[in-house]
Amino acid sequence: MQIRDARFLTSNTEVAKCPAPTLPEYAFIGRSNVGKSSLINMLTARNGLAKTSSLPGKTQLINHFLINEQWYLVDLPGYGYARVSKESRAKWGKMIRAYLSKRENLSCVFVLIDSRLPPQAVDLEFITMLGEMGVPFVLVFTKTDKQSGGRTEQNVQTFLAKMSETWEELPRYFVTSAVARDGRDEVLGFIEEVNQQ
Ligand code: GDP
Repeated sequence: MQIRDARFLTSNTEVAKCPAPTLPEYAFIGRSNVGKSSLINMLTARNGLAKTSSLPGKTQLINHFLINEQWYLVDLPGYGYARVSKESRAKWGKMIRAYLSKRENLSCVFVLIDSRLPPQAVDLEFITMLGEMGVPFVLVFTKTDKQSGGRTEQNVQTFLAKMSETWEELPRYFVTSAVARDGRDEVLGFIEEVNQQ
């Protein structure tokens, strides 16, 4: 898929205020610092489209972008900040659950996983929540330029093995680097494929 057009639409905390659900929607989420903004900018080939990590404590927003006048890309607030109050964690949970359960045009959630780390409890917990809510998702392993391909493959397999303890079917996954621009065609090709279904 060629990205001919990518523009910011809205930022808000309420699902009711999101753009009308008239187009298929793809949401990106992950732990803070996982490389979400960098990945969104790489995919859309627009530097600065997604702003790099908001600081903990700052308002956490659902950001909508319109791509090629065809689909929405959504930058969701990340999870797993080390120093975040119980209160803002609860607020995040409420907002994300509302978004995931009410957004009828949501085609797929891209869950970003740092390819360098062993399976992280927060990621597995978030994935479990998606499963419980019946939300379709895929995995995106990020920052693969930071290590050898063999190491990435090993970490991916470890993550999938961990998931297979509780999941019967494993999700599709993508291996990406915002720096090396790896995985761009695969992720955009997948979105195109789902859009055509
Ligand atoms: P976010 O908090 O998930 O939006 O993460 P950012 O996109 O702001 O990235 C966090 C940090 O990781 C920044 O310093 C980025 O430059 C760096 N980063 C993100 N993606 C990559 C990548 O693919 N390769 C490398 N080497 N660094 C990356």
